[in-house]
Amino acid sequence: MSEIRQLELPLPWLGSVNVWLLEGDPLTLVDTGARSDAAEEALDRELSRYGYEVSDLELVLVTHHHLDHSGLAAAIKKRSGARIAAHRETARWGLEYEERARAERLFTQRLMAAHGVPEKVVEDSAPFFEYIVESSSPFTTDRVLSDGDTIHAGGRTLRVVFRPGHSTTDTLFVDDDSCAAFVGDHLLATITSAAEIMPTELPGDERRRALLEYLANLRKTEVMQLVRCYTGHGPVVEDHRALIEERLAFHAERRDLIAAPVRRPLIFARSTCSDFHRCTVKMPQLRPSHNQKGILLRAL
Ligand SMILES: [Zn+2]
Repeated sequence: MSEIRQLELPLPWLGSVNVWLLEGDPLTLVDTGARSDAAEEALDRELSRYGYEVSDLELVLVTHHHLDHSGLAAAIKKRSGARIAAHRETARWGLEYEERARAERLFTQRLMAAHGVPEKVVEDSAPFFEYIVESSSPFTTDRVLSDGDTIHAGGRTLRVVFRPGHSTTDTLFVDDDSCAAFVGDHLLATITSAAEIMPTELPGDERRRALLEYLANLRKTEVMQLVRCYTGHGPVVEDHRALIEERLAFHAERRDLIAAPVRRPLIFARSTCSDFHRCTVKMPQLRPSHNQKGILLRAL
């Protein structure tokens, strides 16, 4: 079986993102890092540790559209001619990245305003959205994948498993022969993955319930036979069932905590979040991870 190498590329706020090099035929990278000079230089450096250059890459798999996982896809393709393979939903983001990022910004800022967030706080979220655009890049997908498809990558056959929730495009690439999976941010060892609030795709459509979708998909992953999950950030997960149980318990406890203020009449998301934050002072174990803070901030 060919080797799997963990390349850690720099990423503001979170520290780093994992890019996985699969040393078989075709030479494959799972995820890319954000579009930045620092990340691209680090990719060159990390690849050279194993005797490769970007131009050697033949295939790029993208676990989900977030900038830290797809930002360098277009640049890598340009430098190497590598093919990009991604789930249909990720491929759509790749084609329309800027429009979608703009729509996401508008949606989030309107949501904040609708919930009584002061104008100044809404304005102060601008750099975050600008960062998304600066650090991502549109890309074209050469092989569009669907749930259940298989793809040959790095000397192994990977099965495509669609597991949205953290984002609308989360995809696992599962190696059934070795019970291993590349899971992106669907499951992380040291951070609780956030479920993002997103606009509906069609006007008048029912709103997405991202967290419920995420938890349902986490339960599906829990029953899979896996011995190693190669994650988007931090270390490899070796006992995914224990970790998923921990995550489910965390969300159940948090749900109960949030339920009390939400039940009060005429409540805004901002005051609900403020109440929740006050509760976390007493219950530090329920404090959101930095990943979740961003989402709470966007909900505020
Ligand atoms: Zn990530």
